[in-house]
Amino acid sequence: MAVFIPLEAMAPVRPARATVERGPLPERLVDGFGRVHNNLRISITDRCNFRCIYCMPEEMEFFPREFILTYEEIVRLTRIAARLGVDKVRLTGGEPLVRRDLPILVRSLGDLGVLRDLSLTTNGVRLPEMAQELWDAGLRRLNVSLDTLDPQKFAELTRRNLFHRVIAGLEAAARVGFHPIKINVVAIRGYAEDELLDFARLAREQAYQVRFIEFMPLDGDGMWDHARVLTAREILETIGAVYPLERAHPGPTPEPATLYRFRDGRGEIGLIPTVTEPFCTRCNRIRITADGKLRYCLFAIEETDLKTPLRAGASDEEIAWLIVDTVRGKWAGHAINQAGFIKPQRNMSQIGG
Ligand code: SF4
Repeated sequence: MAVFIPLEAMAPVRPARATVERGPLPERLVDGFGRVHNNLRISITDRCNFRCIYCMPEEMEFFPREFILTYEEIVRLTRIAARLGVDKVRLTGGEPLVRRDLPILVRSLGDLGVLRDLSLTTNGVRLPEMAQELWDAGLRRLNVSLDTLDPQKFAELTRRNLFHRVIAGLEAAARVGFHPIKINVVAIRGYAEDELLDFARLAREQAYQVRFIEFMPLDGDGMWDHARVLTAREILETIGAVYPLERAHPGPTPEPATLYRFRDGRGEIGLIPTVTEPFCTRCNRIRITADGKLRYCLFAIEETDLKTPLRAGASDEEIAWLIVDTVRGKWAGHAINQAGFIKPQRNMSQIGG
């Protein structure tokens, strides 16, 4: 049974700095390496209706309700971050569609009028009944996690027998107009190799952009190992040998995925080589956890508490300076391939993708 990690045992929390006499707030969030951060990932819950083996243990204790940010707090933090140049928000979890009244949050974020892009990552199982509502609330972009096209393997990977609901969810999302729908595949060695061509065919035959994500050390069960990482290079070579590919964009982009299109023009795939070809030098992302901690990196081992000052009456400016200081102190990148790598205390469901 996984123990509930008391928050104070989580990553060290940076103390707030006084805001008096600090001059004007910057218009952009720039770290010590000159990277500009305009992309905010917000985890709106740590709860999920799946138990994916690469994410959380079977038995999981979730944050008490009062620990997690209210929708009003999420909207306020987004408004503050937008003053600092954030114009892209992705809603994540756990599984965001398990949180009640999600369309209200989506509409409120859209009504801020400050976001160029609002997207959401989901496991898709509630999309059959919620796709239309989310679309009507203004959401236009979806990432759906689907690591296998085999219902049995799906049950093994997610510990839930809900494969067909996810497929129905994808179809519902396509029907109401989401396009392109991005499918995120966590490529674990021993699970993914024999389905790479099936996923390539899915990308070629349907309006889905399939993105393969290297398995990352954020699991709750300690199953991660370098040897279990099916590398982006291997995926590219396997698919390219059957369906020739070319880079979709000449140079690097701030986005984590490197896109390839099929030479015959039938669709695209993406590769996210977090472990073997890190892209930290062009990182533009920061994250807020469901319990209100700001993380400058997915693998950060320190966090900034935004919720406590927010609930203690801090001004927008004080919160903004906490965000500015956190980004200014951001490290160069993850250290997964280095001897001293320290795995974050949180698993993926407590951080958000
Ligand atoms: S590992 Fe951290 S620094 Fe590197 S790209 Fe991901 S979030 Fe950015």
